[in-house]
Amino acid sequence: MRSMWSDEGAEAAIRAWAGGRACNEDIALRVYTTRLIGREPTLVLHGGGNTSVKTRLLDELGELVDVLCVKGSGWDMANIEPPGLPAVRLGALASLRRLAALDDAAMVNAARTRLLDASAPNPSVEVLLHAFLPHKFIDHSHADAILALVDQAEAESLAREVFGDSLAIVPYIMPGFALAQRAAEVYEAHPQCQGLLLLQHGLFTFGANARESYERHVDAVSRAEAYIASRRKPVGVTSRRNLDYAMLAPLLRGRLGNHRPVVLRYRQSPTIRRFVDHENLESSSGRGPATPDHVIRTKQRPLVLDLGEQPPESWAEVTRNALGAYRARYRSYVRQQIEQKGVARTELDPDPRIVLIPGVGLIAIGPDAAAADVAADIYEHTIEVILDAESVGAYRALGDGDIFDMEYWPLEQAKLGKQPPKPLQGRVVLVTGAASGIGSATARVFATAGAELVLLDRVETPLRELGAQLKAPWKVVDVRDRDAILASVQYAVETFGGLDGIVSNAGTAPQAPIHECPPDLFEESLAINLLAHQWLAAAASTVMRRQGTGGFLLFNASKAAFNPGKDFGPYAIAKAGLVALMKQYALEGGEAGIRSNAINADRVRTGLLPPEVVSARAGARGLDPDTYFRSNLLGREVTADDVARGFLHLALAPSTTGTVLTVDGGNIAASPR
Ligand code: ZN
Repeated sequence: MRSMWSDEGAEAAIRAWAGGRACNEDIALRVYTTRLIGREPTLVLHGGGNTSVKTRLLDELGELVDVLCVKGSGWDMANIEPPGLPAVRLGALASLRRLAALDDAAMVNAARTRLLDASAPNPSVEVLLHAFLPHKFIDHSHADAILALVDQAEAESLAREVFGDSLAIVPYIMPGFALAQRAAEVYEAHPQCQGLLLLQHGLFTFGANARESYERHVDAVSRAEAYIASRRKPVGVTSRRNLDYAMLAPLLRGRLGNHRPVVLRYRQSPTIRRFVDHENLESSSGRGPATPDHVIRTKQRPLVLDLGEQPPESWAEVTRNALGAYRARYRSYVRQQIEQKGVARTELDPDPRIVLIPGVGLIAIGPDAAAADVAADIYEHTIEVILDAESVGAYRALGDGDIFDMEYWPLEQAKLGKQPPKPLQGRVVLVTGAASGIGSATARVFATAGAELVLLDRVETPLRELGAQLKAPWKVVDVRDRDAILASVQYAVETFGGLDGIVSNAGTAPQAPIHECPPDLFEESLAINLLAHQWLAAAASTVMRRQGTGGFLLFNASKAAFNPGKDFGPYAIAKAGLVALMKQYALEGGEAGIRSNAINADRVRTGLLPPEVVSARAGARGLDPDTYFRSNLLGREVTADDVARGFLHLALAPSTTGTVLTVDGGNIAASPR
């Protein structure tokens, strides 16, 4: 690892942030090197690590006061800004060191009540450690290479060999007042040291200025990396047969989540495969997380799901049994800890967050894709740490008691946030014709409702733009191509672990007098407006049945299905067939919990009909286009958003299937009958 410090970068940071009441040069440089550390994933991952600076700021009386600016919770070091380093009155905070003990709630209160700005975020849970050390700049990370050395039975002698006396060693204590006390004592006993090595936790370095503290950090990590590199053992090659993840994922996903849908993220790399295919997987993965605060993301240990040479027909049963055993083991660990410690705690959900499958790879589980990605990132690094630790000794993590304290620590659980879940959180929904009109409006409404979307359309540019806006994966697909539809469903499964719903929306509106309709045009309308819906619904239903958790099929029908218009035969006949298709799926999908519904929308201003056709249809009724769009019982124009909300309503209506929801402002002639 090399230092990323640059004088230009530091000066730019000062120009960008220093000045004003709340930020000076010290804080600007603190932002600069905090970002340097935060942007290096081998140093810091998703909220691990923190930094501080001791400086002076003006209070409300206009007097300079000594403050500690320490990373605030909720801020990511990679993108931190000055408000992410709340200022706490240093003298009042440091004086807490006189106490014999201070519980966590009192510690949080003590830090909050000493803030200069009452609206600032909570200072890091390691605030007292920063306050009790005398140094101006302090940097803390859970760097991979450091963890490989401190997660060892022989960590102390290894540390002496690698770092000499440049780093002093602090035994494992959970973050809080006691750790802060102990770290300060260790420093005072080794005043020459440049930092502290926290066993089974991570690294602190300090310095008189931002660059010194940062570069001491980089130097310590580099030494650890070099030591490991010189001893790294070649890992055996994989000999497991490859298993079909797309086949397995819905089976696994459907059995997880305790009545709440979860999202699966799949990772595979040569390193991951060598790790999960290794014969010692159960032992090497079962020893616990690399640093304690990973436990809330990954749980203490992953589920190892070994399908061996089992045929795919038995995968569901093997998965069910393995999950049952995992949950039983988790519950007994929690019960034991509660009993031993004599504390009152409510058991958290017993499901794994990481599943390791020989022949497949690493699967991370979360309430949504973002949370699952965090768990996947953390475990990918854990694999590196374990492999490196095994190269230099034997990986050893904390025992059940310490892990339990961290997992059930309210300050740690608070990091996961407590917002109520959105209505479609964790649900995977595929939308066709997503790039414009009703499809794009529906994608937006479903994204706001928390769904994980896969967007399909035949036009690339607007699809790509929408995908970027909604952070949703997309695929250019011609819905007439059955193989492409099947591949898209498989893509959704590989991306999110399964599928819970479709909005089968893509359509065209060709016109011709029925008796002289060109065969190609008629066949094309059937291909897009009827057959494509069948290809998608069939493939989606197969995945939903494998999951065993039901799902919803939503079709964009049309008023033409009930109230055909002159020359719209090729369209209306296909749409009438689509309504029959919807009913057939309702009839046959009910026992599997698969609901099937359609929307009958009319006169929505989308690209479906070219403007000249709209003008002609309006003109035939003696209306201008605007009046034409409002000529319904309510006298209001129906928007793509109205239709999108109709789809959302049907997606969330647990007792509704086989129905057509009309979204047309009121048109008695077209009411279904
Ligand atoms: Zn830490």
